[in-house]
Amino acid sequence: MFKKYFAFTVISMETNKRTNLLYSFYQALSEHFGDMQSLLANAMPLIEDYIGADRVFYYDWLDKKSVLSLKIMCEGKKVYNLQEDIFVDKNSPEIIKLLQDGVMDSPSLDYPAVYVLLKWRGPQNSIRTMKTGVSMPSSLGVFRVERLKKNKPFTESEKEILIELARELSSRINLTEVDMYHSAQLKRAEALNKLSAVFATSLRLSDSLQEILLSIQDAFRFDRTSLYLCDPKTNDIIEGYSVDLSGEVKTLEIGPNIKKKLVADASNSDIRLMIPLSVQGKNLGFMCFDNVLSRTPIKKGEVLSLKQFSSQIALAIDNARLFEKVQELSNYDDLTGLALRRFFKENLAQEIYRSKRFNLVFSLILLDIDYFKQINDTYGHLFGDEALKSVSTIIKESLRQTDLPCRYGGDEMVILLPRTTGEEAKHIAARLLKRVKEISLPADLSGGKEVKLSISQGIAVFPTDSDEMSNLFKCADDALYHVKQGGRGFYALYEDVKKK
Ligand code: GH3
Ligand code: MG
Repeated sequence: MFKKYFAFTVISMETNKRTNLLYSFYQALSEHFGDMQSLLANAMPLIEDYIGADRVFYYDWLDKKSVLSLKIMCEGKKVYNLQEDIFVDKNSPEIIKLLQDGVMDSPSLDYPAVYVLLKWRGPQNSIRTMKTGVSMPSSLGVFRVERLKKNKPFTESEKEILIELARELSSRINLTEVDMYHSAQLKRAEALNKLSAVFATSLRLSDSLQEILLSIQDAFRFDRTSLYLCDPKTNDIIEGYSVDLSGEVKTLEIGPNIKKKLVADASNSDIRLMIPLSVQGKNLGFMCFDNVLSRTPIKKGEVLSLKQFSSQIALAIDNARLFEKVQELSNYDDLTGLALRRFFKENLAQEIYRSKRFNLVFSLILLDIDYFKQINDTYGHLFGDEALKSVSTIIKESLRQTDLPCRYGGDEMVILLPRTTGEEAKHIAARLLKRVKEISLPADLSGGKEVKLSISQGIAVFPTDSDEMSNLFKCADDALYHVKQGGRGFYALYEDVKKK
């Protein structure tokens, strides 16, 4: 009777101790640790302490590869990240026992060591289980808990505690993974949302591309995300941009065999991914993602989301391209190919801003064809059109890339010459005049008669003549008027005209 009572007390004390221990483990793990790595790093010293172990190792069980992959080791409460693979034979009696019992003595080490199984469902499986009610296969991990003193083997009771700690930890890992999965999903949903905003608002191609790259990078955090655009006609890659962890968008150099190289790099690699961007069978380009630096494999879930994004991205690029084409059409004059007035004024406003900001000069040449009405009246409108085109071609061919010529209206043109002084503008005007005078128009349109063209030009300089747009125009116009009054076929600087 006494004996029985005594035995009962021992069990109840033992049970109490175990319950307390489990509860404190549970509480310690309830603090949010973010990811599995940090969860383990917090749990392993506790296990070491509770069980009186000298070392604890954690291995991921990679079922497909039949490998136990060492991740973390804990010794003397310190945690280290390590890497080492151990091959396991799933059909060996030891492994079958470990899978059945959840715990197993090490068959090979000559000091006390036990393997303890961790088993959780993982986010994908948990979600499927919720939907279907059927429990799905688990993710597996293994602890090896070691005592380096040979004479202190693990007792059955200690092994039971280890099983319970592993069970508690498994359910925590499951929660953490589900949590992480949801926050990753949420982040992607946010990115998609942000992208939709990009698609709805920012219609300029370069802006769209930049936003697309940055949103993707924000959501997925690859080592690098790149976007390549193809020529719609030849299908060759013509431009490329990339963004890495620094968040800086860079223009990529396009080598001769780039497409082949990208395809070769991406095939059979789990750290690179290439997704085509196409709209209605039309190939617009590619997006490439890589984790070449970190060597982290790109996950299946990420591939799926990116494929979902890709059709939206392709659509946005197609829209932006179309918009640019339409804009180009509406910014430039059909007949002469010169900029139109509104577009020119936008650029001029920017130039005024820039020149004020950086103390720069620029010149404006207002140019008008002499006796153009007469040419029209004598030889017909078609001939007049040819004359206009020839003058415009001369202008385009005589200017620098940064200069902007515009058909201001009728036979009147205006040229913006950034960083150009009045004297330099006079040289340009002289050159234009000389070349226009050399134009020979097709004689068949003028009844065999050779028609000579000439132009008059007035020049205004920023900021000497004025630092304001309409005044500057007026100065150029005054100078032009002066030339017209003086007999045409020449040019004048407003500053010189003003003096007279
Ligand atoms: P001035 O030397 O004083 O400039 O004399 P002008 O005859 O050139 O006079 P003005 O600049 O006023 O004449 C402009 C003419 O340009 C009138 C208009 O019929 C003609 N014109 C305007 N747009 C076009 C066009 O697109 N094609 C043709 N062929 N003629 C045009
Ligand atoms: Mg004229």
